[in-house]
Formats: sequence, structure tokens, C-alpha cells
Amino acid sequence: MALKNDCFALPAGVAWTPVTEALADLRGRLSPVTGVEAVALGAAQGRILARDVMAPISLPPADNSAVDGYALAHGSLTPEGEQRLALVPGRSAAGAPFGGVIAAGQAVRVLTGGVMPDGTDSVVMDEDVDRDGDAIRFGSGLKAGANRRRAGEDIRADAPALTAGARLGPAAMARLASIGVAEVAAFAPLRVAVFSTGDELAEPGEALRPGQIYDANRAMLLSLVRAQGVVALDHGRIPDRPAAIADALATAARDADAVIVSGGASGGDEDHVSRELSRSGAMALWRIAMKPGRPLALGQIDGVPVFGLPGNPVAAFVCFLIFARPALCRLAGADWPEPMGYPLVARFSARKKPGRAEYLRGRADGTGGVEKFRSDGSGLIGGLVWSGGLIALDHDRGAVEAGEVVQFLPYAEFGVV
Ligand code: AMP
Ligand code: MG
Repeated sequence: MALKNDCFALPAGVAWTPVTEALADLRGRLSPVTGVEAVALGAAQGRILARDVMAPISLPPADNSAVDGYALAHGSLTPEGEQRLALVPGRSAAGAPFGGVIAAGQAVRVLTGGVMPDGTDSVVMDEDVDRDGDAIRFGSGLKAGANRRRAGEDIRADAPALTAGARLGPAAMARLASIGVAEVAAFAPLRVAVFSTGDELAEPGEALRPGQIYDANRAMLLSLVRAQGVVALDHGRIPDRPAAIADALATAARDADAVIVSGGASGGDEDHVSRELSRSGAMALWRIAMKPGRPLALGQIDGVPVFGLPGNPVAAFVCFLIFARPALCRLAGADWPEPMGYPLVARFSARKKPGRAEYLRGRADGTGGVEKFRSDGSGLIGGLVWSGGLIALDHDRGAVEAGEVVQFLPYAEFGVV
């Protein structure tokens, strides 16, 4: 499956695209790019379903008891007074059904999960019953169908159990196992190459030379990519030389289904990533109206989508969460994710003009409020460490006064801890 070569082309004449518009555009242009394979249930954790799964059976397969007690026909009971039924020998336990038929005026022992014996439709629970030799006694008022689980009340045969695009987490694994599905059609894991650009970057563990800084983005982006359940390929650090960057892009495009690059994306002197992507002919510098984030470079090398993120770590982080993450999910075959924002009371004030979206580093205070990091500087990794999510201020919003409601997007909403 290939993407159209112009899938990142921008609408003509648009200067600064609002975030919501840019996301809607991206969403419309991307489709799954990996193959479909059969995966055994035991190996399917985290995979993305490629086809809907219909339930081959009903669950529960048969009516059964929700409690330990005695199964009976509700028609045997009288509306008032003490109830007395003859106890039939034998029982229905989970996995060991009762073979006979229960007649009017009779009851039989049943345990939780035991199939309802023929002739019965209700269960009176142990706690309400007195044993009296070969009979049981209990009060009136038992409802028809009491303590009975119906066949198919969880799911009916042939009903949709899970839909294509679902990521298989614990609940989905239980759903599949519960209806006896041992193998699913899943997308092959998306492979994402990550590299950093910058002459100033050194590798952790090395001694810093004058003017150098450690490459923080690569470790961060590899971690962000892995958190999405896709395969992350570490393609290292690349110096700011056009030939080196062209090589790195070509290699990454050969090895991976998508490429994430940080640094050199904005069109300045050393911004070779955007230049190389433009040279390859399928590049769009998306001027997105958001902070943090300089223009995001979206391009294709040999048909493989490349996300050129800003070099500033916080900007790279935010651009990854807002743009690259949903795009990777979609390329991997998953539904387009919509992170849920929670309305919290601002415990801060912030200057802002309408006309761009802003993402501040925030921390919920546990009493319905959210604080913001002391500085908006997009180079400060301390703000990422301190925060638990992003405070999202929409495009049209103006300044925030303490006490106003703001949307808080916990990092967990992006699959990130
Ligand atoms: P650039 O987008 O390449 O112009 O980089 C913008 C800022 O981010 C500069 O201060 C860079 O030194 C810094 N930066 C770029 N890449 C990284 C990286 N991988 N880790 C840490 N800082 C970086
Ligand atoms: Mg750079």
C-alpha cells in the first residue's frame, strides 16, 4: 500500500494553517501502509486489527446461574407465603451441567456458572434458603429470571466483537479469548526510523567538546515512538551536511515505513532537512499556527513519509504528540486517535493572542486545577519532566486569567507515561 506522492501538499494560498485544519488535512490523506498478517492471540498484544472480528459464538453460550443456590421454574412459586420445593438429587456446576429435567414444584442445586437445568428459569440464592431434608424453603418475592445470566447477554453470535483499527489491549484480548478466537488479521508493525541532525550534538557517554550539547531528542523521540506500539529504529546523529542528510534520509526511507527527524527543519542556513525534502520534490513546509513549533516539514522520500520536527526538545515533543503521533497511528492501521481533554481551572494567568494554538506544560493539582510550568521556553526539558500533560489553548482564545477553565491533555492520552 503506498501513499499518494503529493499527500503532504498544502492547500494553495494558506499562510498559517490552524492546528485543527492541519490535523483534518493529515487525517484525510494518510492510510495504512503496512501489510496484513495472521497473528496468534498470544502474540497479538499491542497489534492493530486489520479486519473486523465477528463473534463466532454467543457469550455466555447458554443461560447459567450468577450465584450459588437452587434453580427452579418461576411458575412453581406462589405470590405470597412460604415457598417449599422438592429438592432433586444432583447439581449443575460450572463445566458440569445437570442432565435431567426439573418439573414444576422441584428445584435443583446450582453453582455459579452452572448451566440452567432444563425446566428452570430462576435461581434462589443460598443466603435466602433453608434446607429441610429433601426440600428447600424460602420467602416469597423471587423475581422471574432472578440470578440468571442469559445466553448472549455479553455478545451474540455474528455480532461485531471488535472493529478494524482497534489496538489490542487487555480488554480486547479478553474479548477475543472469550469468544474462542485464536488468531486475528493484524497489520504488520509499523517501522519508524528516528535520527537527529546538528553539528553540535554529542552522544551521552561521550565528553562534551566546547559548543557541544548532548543529543536529547533522539532518546526522547525513540521513547515516544515506542510508546505508540510501533517499531523504533535508531538511525543515529547526522551532521549538518547536505550529502550526509540526503544519505540518512535515503537509508531511513529504505529501512522504515516512516521517518522522524529532528532539527534543521525551518528553512534557516543549516536547515538541510527541509532543503533535502524539497529537493526530493515531495515536500511541504507546513506553517502551522501553533506554539511551540516552528514550521513542521512534512515530505516523502521514495514514497516514505518523513516528519521533520523542530530541534528544540520541547517543540519536538509537542509537534510529535500533536502531529506525528496521530499520523503514525494511522499509517500503522489504527483509528485516528483523538486525545481527550479535561476541563480544569487555571491556577495561573498567561498572555496569549488569538490566531494560534498554544500548548503549555501543565500539571494537575488534584483539586480540579492545573498549574503551568514556570517558563514557556521551548528548550527546557525540565518542563517536560515536571509536567503531566499539555494545557491546550485553542486558536481563537485570548489571554488566560487565573480561575478560567482550560483544557488539560494528560500525556497518558497520547499513550505516553
Ligand atoms: P534547529 O531546529 O536544528 O535549528 O535547532 C533548534 C535548537 O534546538 C538549537 O538550540 C539546537 O541546538 C537544539 N537542538 C537541535 N537538535 C537537538 C537535539 N537532538 N537534542 C537537543 N537539542 C537539540
Ligand atoms: Mg540544527
